Amino acid sequence: MSFLPSYPMLEPGPTATLALPPGIPSPAMPGDADWLDQLSAELDAVEVALERLEVGSFDSCEVCGARLGHEGLLEDPLLTRCATHS
Ligand SMILES: [Zn+2]
Repeated sequence: MSFLPSYPMLEPGPTATLALPPGIPSPAMPGDADWLDQLSAELDAVEVALERLEVGSFDSCEVCGARLGHEGLLEDPLLTRCATHS
């Protein structure tokens, strides 16, 4: 006997396709070259952010050294530049 809750199963195939409202671009899917590029760029940005955290420059603009501030970093933790230089 299974103790797992039962969820309605989605049938594989075209019936499981999610329809997006018109005007909304469909999200990139695995196997899409753009998706891979985007993922790779995001990974690079995360590595840069980790490096900046390690050397203590996480809160500074990489161009002018101005403080990025709490709000900017909360909005985008991968932020590397101030509003003037982004
Ligand atoms: Zn700057």
